[in-house]
Amino acid sequence: MHQVGGAVLQQFLNADGGGHRGPRIDCGQGHRAAFVDYRDKVVLTVLAPVAVQRAYYHCAPCARGLIPKDRDLDIIGTTFSPGVRRLMGRVGGKEAFDEGRRDLETLAGVVVKTKAVERVAEALGAQVEAMAIQERARALSGTVVPLQAAPTLYIAIDGTGVPVVPHETVGRPGKDPTGPAKTREVKLGCVFTQTSVDEQGRPVRDEDSTTYVGAIEPAEAFGRRIYAEAVRRGITRAERVIVLGDGAPWIWGIADEHFPGAIQIVDLYHAREHLADLGKLVYGATSAAAKAWAAARRQDLDAGDVERVAAAMGRLRPRQRDAQEAVRKARSYFETNAPRMRYARFRRQGLFVGSGVVEAGCKTIVGHRLKQSGMRWTVRGANAIIALRCADLSGRWEEFWEARAVG
Ligand SMILES: [Zn+2]
Repeated sequence: MHQVGGAVLQQFLNADGGGHRGPRIDCGQGHRAAFVDYRDKVVLTVLAPVAVQRAYYHCAPCARGLIPKDRDLDIIGTTFSPGVRRLMGRVGGKEAFDEGRRDLETLAGVVVKTKAVERVAEALGAQVEAMAIQERARALSGTVVPLQAAPTLYIAIDGTGVPVVPHETVGRPGKDPTGPAKTREVKLGCVFTQTSVDEQGRPVRDEDSTTYVGAIEPAEAFGRRIYAEAVRRGITRAERVIVLGDGAPWIWGIADEHFPGAIQIVDLYHAREHLADLGKLVYGATSAAAKAWAAARRQDLDAGDVERVAAAMGRLRPRQRDAQEAVRKARSYFETNAPRMRYARFRRQGLFVGSGVVEAGCKTIVGHRLKQSGMRWTVRGANAIIALRCADLSGRWEEFWEARAVG
């Protein structure tokens, strides 16, 4: 069946006799390129490999060849049809490249090399990112048309490590002070909206309202990335803006710079974890006193009484040095973030107080695809796949292909 279809397709693709446009054509740089001859290229399509006949032109001043038909068919510099590349990008974004190769063969009868899946998927990811860069420029210059705005818009930000090849961590200290870093941090952000609360007054996230952006990059660059996404999602028309994150200072730096006036909320579950960890460290991991202390502080925290939490920490008198240091650090964490921990008030306002959405995003977008055993990424490769996955999870995969077809 595929073979028959392939033969028909081959006839169809060559019905133009090779796309001859006359003896001379415009080269695009102001010269005239001359027709030389017809050149075949075997292109792998979803049906079968087909030999495509193309008129070849040469521009002497540019010293380069030109094949107008390759542009029409979207096969410049590749022997895979757009349909096959789309499949390769799809599987390469979803699973390990070798598994993707096997799925292509089993499900679509398309036989390619693992390395080709990798190359094509990463090239598509780079194109997704190139489009995002243009979009960002429009957002930052105020010329983007925002999507429908909702009254309440959330921006949740988190970071997660990805294992990288050794040269990507040269000069970067690792978590373990005795060795070099083995991972690089992916910064991930999501934007979602909320229009209502349920009967209990708890916030309800708007269905399908979550979009994602992410990359391995410095906080300044990521700040522009998440800001542009928020603009695209209608932040300028939102009545309330909330930034959710853990205690990482870079997140609040971005919030202050790009989202002034937003309500900043430290993820409640991170804050609780700090309490539980500290209780264990001071009173012993399995002790009842540790549990009781953490439970009492949790109540203070739920009430938004951060001062009481900090005061209780001030009364802790551990003997061990490391525990003393941990108490000091935890106290400083709660004091620094106190305005971001007024949980009782946030709840009264019907707001989310947890950053679970972005943490789930970290697992889905990054963890499941980039942190499988044995994987070691280059930053470029990881960013390409992250771009693909963010587009997919944001429901923008089709949009990407439509924009490509127009461009
Ligand atoms: Zn030229």
